[in-house]
Amino acid sequence: MMLGYLLARAGVRTIVLEKHGDFLRDFRGDTIHPSTLEVMHELGLLEEFLARPHQEVRRLSLSIGREQLTLADFSHLPTHCRFVALMPQWHFLDFVAEQAKRWPSFRLRLRSEAKGLLVEGGSGRKKAVEKMLQSVGGKLEAMYFAYGDNDVILIADVPDAVSGLALSMTANSSGSVKLTTTPLITVEEVDAACKKSVAYRPAGAAGV
Ligand SMILES: Cc1cc2nc3c(=O)[nH]c(=O)nc-3n(C[C@H](O)[C@H](O)[C@H](O)COP(=O)(O)OP(=O)(O)OC[C@H]3O[C@@H](n4cnc5c(N)ncnc54)[C@H](O)[C@@H]3O)c2cc1C
Repeated sequence: MMLGYLLARAGVRTIVLEKHGDFLRDFRGDTIHPSTLEVMHELGLLEEFLARPHQEVRRLSLSIGREQLTLADFSHLPTHCRFVALMPQWHFLDFVAEQAKRWPSFRLRLRSEAKGLLVEGGSGRKKAVEKMLQSVGGKLEAMYFAYGDNDVILIADVPDAVSGLALSMTANSSGSVKLTTTPLITVEEVDAACKKSVAYRPAGAAGV
């Protein structure tokens, strides 16, 4: 989640997939360490974070009989927070998720389990794409995985705009991909367009 926040903050389009419906994992601890709080400060999140319900532990000590032993003393740390904050980890993650959602490039998908590419391999994904296109009467012409802004680039023959829209809506609603479509124009179509005569008057030119 923290990486998701940092990537989104840097303007990278980011989708965090979480297979559960929330961050409530009962096997996690509650301590937010001074170094973590310092990172929150550097990110400009500390004030808002500390406004959330939490407890602050500045010293840890142990009493044995009349003896008082100091186990930890955070008061001399060179950080803004010289204490450990106690907050359930799912509240911490909810906070980070809320902050991340402020960036338009961030999306969090709960109940979304990642199980695609590594399990199925590239050919498995290709078969799934072919099947999807065939279901609307379309055909896959080429498929490439890519570095950069787009992970996959497809060239497909789709019978009509409605079928294209149905494919796009179905894939996007899964939450695991963001599909954008670009209608391609054939050379022949450009030739035909060049031969069409079009009635056009530039703005401001005298009308006839
Ligand atoms: C018992 C315990 C106590 C701890 N106490 C503290 C503490 O007090 N303070 C502290 O700072 N750190 C503590 N830690 C360490 C801290 O919890 C981890 O460092 C931190 O949670 C790691 O974050 P992560 O995002 O890498 O992994 P995780 O927190 O494990 O997150 C991984 C997430 O991915 C989800 N997931 C897994 N597989 C898939 C899939 N295929 N598709 C989609 N989602 C999937 C999981 O449901 C999970 O929510 C503790 C750890 C444990 C185990």
